Amino acid sequence: MNTILPILEPAAPPSLTDENDSLRLRDSHGRFITDLRLSVTDRCNYRCVYCRTGTDGARLLRIFVSLGIEKIRLTGGEPLLRHGLLDLIHETAQLRPAFSEQPLDIALTTNGHLLAPLAQPLKDAGLSRITVSMDAVDAETFTRITRVPGSFERVRAGIRAAQDAGLGPVKVNCVLLRGFNDTQIEAFAEFSRTENVIVRFIEFMPLEEDRKWTPESVVPMSEIVARLNAIRPLVPLAANNPSETARRFTFADGRGEIGIIAPVSQPFCGHCSRIRLTSDGSLRTCLFSQSDHDLVGLLRRGATDDDLRTRIRAVVHRKEARHHIGEPGFQQPSRSMVHIGG
Ligand code: SAM
Repeated sequence: MNTILPILEPAAPPSLTDENDSLRLRDSHGRFITDLRLSVTDRCNYRCVYCRTGTDGARLLRIFVSLGIEKIRLTGGEPLLRHGLLDLIHETAQLRPAFSEQPLDIALTTNGHLLAPLAQPLKDAGLSRITVSMDAVDAETFTRITRVPGSFERVRAGIRAAQDAGLGPVKVNCVLLRGFNDTQIEAFAEFSRTENVIVRFIEFMPLEEDRKWTPESVVPMSEIVARLNAIRPLVPLAANNPSETARRFTFADGRGEIGIIAPVSQPFCGHCSRIRLTSDGSLRTCLFSQSDHDLVGLLRRGATDDDLRTRIRAVVHRKEARHHIGEPGFQQPSRSMVHIGG
């Protein structure tokens, strides 16, 4: 469903004082919330085996930025299928974070299928960074996963176009699934080095439509590290910021960068700064939330900006301390990844 349409006004200039801490969006666990994942559509042109069997949104974005959001990641579904995406990025780029002097960081996660011709327009519209999801570096395995023939070459061309457009270094996300693509780890390391991209391996989480997740289907971080170390010694890199999800590594010769995102074996909830806005305008405080909170309905019933700010603060205050993947009684979230926005 596409309800997010652009039309934004410039925000107030940044101001930096400790007193601002009481104004910034914060949950009851003391975490500042600075990172908004915006699902711009729940349509997707891939049917990855582990995932599938307007003006209102623009106003919400402005309100979120006024509350301390510093980074917006556009996602979906497949965000490049979204009509008006370039306008949305252009207008979002006019906003200034309320409590930081840095420009708003606008990132996008895409399957890359439609990226090649759009890379330069995305950069020109104001996109800061791009992540491309790519779950294999050989064409046959890739097609087996995405269920779309010819997809590997399209996505690789998209990555190269993004690098040429100045959106590099591109991050390449690979969700590892035991028995599907766990043979690809070493080849991905080589891909990082030859294509000059940051490869990030992600542990598979129970968020798929047909509920196939088992603990055994997860390829844990320890195994990924051991296998990479066996080809070339890994050297840890410092985190870029405290809420960074990936553990970063390079190789001893400094070529290539690998990130490992291990929400299952090494959860990082304690530093979570993320909230999500679904494509139908609901706020989610965790990927694994059992419910979401309708903001667009409130807005259409005449809520003022202050009403919306109050509602957002109240919802964020109750953000979950952590997820419970793998624990007895764990319940899958109320929506699957393609609807939540990854
Ligand atoms: N269509 C876009 C794409 O493919 O990048 C954006 C949406 S997709 C849901 C966002 C990211 O979530 C992708 O990198 C995808 O691999 C990841 N993802 C989807 N289902 C997942 C799962 N069950 N566990 C871990 N990551 C998952």
